[in-house]
Amino acid sequence: MTRAEHVKALLAEYAQQRAQNERDQQARLDAAVARRPEIGQLREESAGLAFVAMRRILGEPDVAKRQAMAQEVKDRGRAINARIRQLLVEAGMAPDELELRYRCPVCRDTGYVGEAPARFCECFERQLRLRQHEDGSMAGLGEQNFERFDATVAPEADGQRDQLVKARGLCERYADSYPDTEFRNLLLTGEGGLGKTFLLNCVFERVTARGFSAVRITAFRMFEAMRQQHIGNDEKYDGFSNLIDAKLLLIDDLGTEPMMRNITIEYLFTLLNERIAAKRHTVIATNLTPAQLKERYGERVASRLLDRSLCAAIQLKGKDLRRQ
Ligand SMILES: [Zn+2]
Repeated sequence: MTRAEHVKALLAEYAQQRAQNERDQQARLDAAVARRPEIGQLREESAGLAFVAMRRILGEPDVAKRQAMAQEVKDRGRAINARIRQLLVEAGMAPDELELRYRCPVCRDTGYVGEAPARFCECFERQLRLRQHEDGSMAGLGEQNFERFDATVAPEADGQRDQLVKARGLCERYADSYPDTEFRNLLLTGEGGLGKTFLLNCVFERVTARGFSAVRITAFRMFEAMRQQHIGNDEKYDGFSNLIDAKLLLIDDLGTEPMMRNITIEYLFTLLNERIAAKRHTVIATNLTPAQLKERYGERVASRLLDRSLCAAIQLKGKDLRRQ
């Protein structure tokens, strides 16, 4: 299924959920009325209150009297609600028993948050990622996990295999202890073909398999999200704000994205800075050395990427495993 198809199916499920919420509310009301019939009468009076009041108020020419009537209606409405809550509590139910209940109070099960242009709620994005993860429509997954990780593909010479075993252990501990990791961030460095992407995908697979949400993205697509944000179009998949908000963000191949003035460095700085301030976890794989990171992105970005108090760095060295 494409993302658009997943979105459509999910929106339909959310609509069903809202209908279910209303049925549940009605069932709670029926149960409450069965125990305390007075609640039913009060609800009916409350529902008719506005209508009756409107007719009376419209027929009253005196302004002061109209205002007094309106106040009276308001007070009666409040008194009814207070009485209903009291009756509910007396009957051993919650005072808000008759209110609508939502699976997600943030979006009230609409899947959207914010004014126009509305964005998908975090709950919706999480469901979407889960679906895409399950049906394998996200690239590069499925095959790459710790179970399939085989360090014997690395030559024993120069300690390359030992180093890979160590790297795997560190990544697996990180994924298993997430979100209570020893270091909040992981930085995987080394030339191409040493297993960085594989390890990054393993972390993603394990963390999501444990039920946490995570966003995995290549630097190139990250750049595309930045560019879309820059031109005022944040509606695209993996919008920039989603990258800031993701509880765990995994960026593969940092350094391969285009270098565009006013975009790459500025947005990367914002992304890292906001994520650090919000104490969110970030895993980055890059072919660049620390010196090259400094050269490409400047001191401000590099200091955030390389901060030893926040970040465990794994440097892989040796022969390209794809050319064995
Ligand atoms: Zn929600």
